[in-house]
Amino acid sequence: MSAEIIDGKAISADIRDEIKAEVEKRIAAGKSKPGLATVLVGDDPASHSYVRAKRRACEQVGIESFHNELPADTSQEDIIGLIEKLNADDKVNGILVQLPLPDGIDDEAVLTTVDVEKDVDGFHPLNLGRLAQKGREPYFTPCTPAGIIELLKRAGAELSGARAAILGRSNIVGMPVSLLLVKENATITICHSRTQDIPTITREADVLVAAIGRAEMVKGDWIKPGAYVIDVGVNRVDDDSKKKGYRLVGDVAFDEAVEVAQAVTPVPGGVGPMTITMLLLNTLKAADRKDPL
Ligand code: NAP
Repeated sequence: MSAEIIDGKAISADIRDEIKAEVEKRIAAGKSKPGLATVLVGDDPASHSYVRAKRRACEQVGIESFHNELPADTSQEDIIGLIEKLNADDKVNGILVQLPLPDGIDDEAVLTTVDVEKDVDGFHPLNLGRLAQKGREPYFTPCTPAGIIELLKRAGAELSGARAAILGRSNIVGMPVSLLLVKENATITICHSRTQDIPTITREADVLVAAIGRAEMVKGDWIKPGAYVIDVGVNRVDDDSKKKGYRLVGDVAFDEAVEVAQAVTPVPGGVGPMTITMLLLNTLKAADRKDPL
């Protein structure tokens, strides 16, 4: 058996085309351009490169981006002050605070300040709380988990009634994707570093999401034949044949998974491209909610 490779890049490109067309429709109808404010504190190179990629993606689909860069020693009070200003700015539909914030800054205090209706990252406790409640919907769902659900649906996975195993319980991936799967009527098992005998659990899963940050930990014989496998992990492993001296691999042993699964995401090129796309979609939704077509 050779699994379908879920092409996150191609799916992401299709969704970005749809977003671009929607933005053009808004502009043609005399509506405002959706606007995303990015807030970057400090000089972490990876964070700078993520924010650059997000701003470039905005430009490609016609979303305006407003960049705010603050030095690493900015006080929590000043960061919160900036967010309050962005909350009040009509041109800003979404606010993205790039994480991690420097040591000494209380993430929760900062994220709670973001207006829930501008919380396009979906990390406000109220949005996460609504995600956890039956019959309630968050204003926005976190981007990587939303991208995972979109990939599963577009790959043809039947989520209702499915058994799903989620490896990882982080606030940004494992827990919110678990909650989204419950909303899709899947029955879930969440595994973490203290879980006993993970392979026995994953072997029963129709849907397997791996988000642990452990290179190729999930082996082929952990996977139920015909399962849908989403590999969120991004891990560097030494590779002298590469110019950089390393290559990126996921949490799943890809070559083994393709022999067993119905469909599997590659790393890179699976979940990664979807995260920014979902951010663009959330920003468009925020603009549509405030000023509908
Ligand atoms: P995280 O905050 O470090 O959480 C890791 C989770 O995995 C924790 O719940 C941890 O359990 C669990 N875990 C760690 N080792 C384990 C083991 N040996 N067995 C079972 N569970 C284990 O990581 P994260 O932020 O969720 O990210 C996970 C991975 O996804 C990383 O590789 C990250 O780079 C990647 N990622 C990719 C994207 C994307 O857009 N492609 C976005 C976000 C993250 P405990 O809770 O018990 O500690």
